[in-house]
Amino acid sequence: MILGSCLCGQVKYQLDGRIYMINNCHCSMCRKVHGSAFGSFLHADTDGFQWICGVDLVTTYKAPQQDDRCFCSNCGSSVPVIEKEDNNVIIPAGTLDTDPGIKPRAHIFIGSKAPWYEISDSLPQFEEFAPEEWIQGLLEKG
Ligand SMILES: [Zn+2]
Ligand SMILES: [Zn+2]
Repeated sequence: MILGSCLCGQVKYQLDGRIYMINNCHCSMCRKVHGSAFGSFLHADTDGFQWICGVDLVTTYKAPQQDDRCFCSNCGSSVPVIEKEDNNVIIPAGTLDTDPGIKPRAHIFIGSKAPWYEISDSLPQFEEFAPEEWIQGLLEKG
């Protein structure tokens, strides 16, 4: 069982299902949302995801032509975004309170990387989204 929470602790969630991967996203939206060089997001099945408390504080920012962004209306922390139609929950990895047991697998959207940040690890780097074949290969390897 994986647990997570926002900064003020009023929003809490648990995850007990299949985890796909963690990616570091360097797109400008993720940089803004996280206030950092990149956003680290864990992707998992929605079936295993459950809010424990504070769901009434979860506010959705709907930007035109972009993915929804959810945050705690009390402390401003990014919180998970549920994409029911894709059976995908996108969890800002910084909100995890327990070790998910996996490490980031790639840097994505490096085409819009911050000019002041140098990537210094050897993970694969993709200009935009990771290619579908690459993701499939990752899932098959487990
Ligand atoms: Zn909060
Ligand atoms: Zn992004």
